[in-house]
Amino acid sequence: MDTFQEATNAEETLDPPDWAEVGSLSHRILDDAIVYLKDVRDRPVWRGMPAEVRAFFGAPLPRSPAPAADVYDDVARNLMPYPMGNVHPRFWSWYMGSSNFTGALGDFLAAIQGSNLGGGNQAAGLMDSQVVNWMKEMVGFPTSASGTLVSGGSMANIIGLTVARNVKAGVDVRERGVGAIPRPLRYYASDQVHSCHRKAMELLGLGNRALRRIPTDAGLRIDIAALKAAIAEDRAAGFKPACVIGTAGTVNTGAVDDLQALASVAGEEDLWFHVDGCIGALIAIAPESRSLVAGIERADSIALDPHKWLHAPFEAGCALVRDASAHRNTFAVTPEYLESTPRGLASGEWLHDYGLQTSRGFRALKIWMALKEHGVEKFGRLIDQNIAQARYLTGLIEAEPALELMAPTTINIVSFRHRLAGASEERLKAFNTEIMLRLQEEGIAALSDTTVHGRHCLRVAIANHRTRRDDLDLVVGEMLRLGREIEAATPA
Ligand SMILES: *Cc1c(COP(=O)(O)O)cnc(C)c1O
Repeated sequence: MDTFQEATNAEETLDPPDWAEVGSLSHRILDDAIVYLKDVRDRPVWRGMPAEVRAFFGAPLPRSPAPAADVYDDVARNLMPYPMGNVHPRFWSWYMGSSNFTGALGDFLAAIQGSNLGGGNQAAGLMDSQVVNWMKEMVGFPTSASGTLVSGGSMANIIGLTVARNVKAGVDVRERGVGAIPRPLRYYASDQVHSCHRKAMELLGLGNRALRRIPTDAGLRIDIAALKAAIAEDRAAGFKPACVIGTAGTVNTGAVDDLQALASVAGEEDLWFHVDGCIGALIAIAPESRSLVAGIERADSIALDPHKWLHAPFEAGCALVRDASAHRNTFAVTPEYLESTPRGLASGEWLHDYGLQTSRGFRALKIWMALKEHGVEKFGRLIDQNIAQARYLTGLIEAEPALELMAPTTINIVSFRHRLAGASEERLKAFNTEIMLRLQEEGIAALSDTTVHGRHCLRVAIANHRTRRDDLDLVVGEMLRLGREIEAATPA
């Protein structure tokens, strides 16, 4: 053998030596995956991991090879039985979607095609832009608006707040930095605003204090009169009011700020109007409920979250900006190694010009496939269905003397607690926390908790296409049982 042939023989690849073997393993994985979702209702929503599973994930870096089938067996044994649980019909913690099988196939195909969505002249780029266009259509934005698919709502909010800063700064912030801003910028949001906005303000160099939290009314919506007073006060003190953030669906209780009123205030006061619609922007596609988010189409920028109410597998967020040139002018940079060419691969649009990432995953495919399969109207009906289920649960709570509703139910989030006669707030918190933890540990349901108006409460957030009303009947019954058990076991 000549040396060239020897070198060629020594060259390695990650491709399998036997594709047929990969085929049979892949079919097995797919069959298991189908059963996994088909039977999800029969499994506990969550379960703790035994010590040997925890130890398994302490194993050192593998140095020598293992058959792919063995690798999969490890995953099937140690990973798949211990999920977060959000694909389960009785998962209602925090706020997340419940994924879908077609979307999972989309993620698989995206990885098989392997495209980098930084841009370029490729079909995946057209699909990415198409999905962004569909999102604009869903919320009533003009086609001239721009947008980008990002990792999630936190990143989508950062995109909107960054464009707002650069447009309102009064100097070229990109060149000169925030230190050159003549009058310190002020942003406004309700005291229910999601924590990601704090991180955004810190990251933008404006600082947490530049985000004024405006008090909320009894329905936990931003108090418009208090907002106007804060703006006037800031102007008088030499600040530059720059941006108001409306929340369409707060994470605590699902409250929806008065978006029409906020749009008007923003217009009168020359503020950027950003809507955090991670929970509620997509209510715009729900036939029964869409009037709740009227005014969202007047925003300058919107953050929304396909991995919540469109049930895209994680991750998928989306930022939309009405003024496409303001969006581009905030992020576009063309280094010499990414210049466009008149033809060929580098002649497509550079999608990285609309955000912070250079390499971008192919997030569009999982959203595209599920939307094509079901049609947007079905997703709208599913949103209405979750809102109706939350109303149903609210009715169960109101009819049950042992339970207490803690905030008005506007959309799909219900805040409530189990009563305990004569107990202090502190004891009530411990009692309700214990109920919540037992519901999780017994694998019955996943709820989370929060504090509303200074009082601890449990929270059911139904962004779940698998939930049925009998799941809600079941959880109420189980809460009452656990309440009795815990009360009986605790000395008063
Ligand atoms: C979920 C959520 C976010 C953050 O979105 P991620 O997708 O988790 O990054 C921001 N705001 C609100 C109102 C949310 O519900």
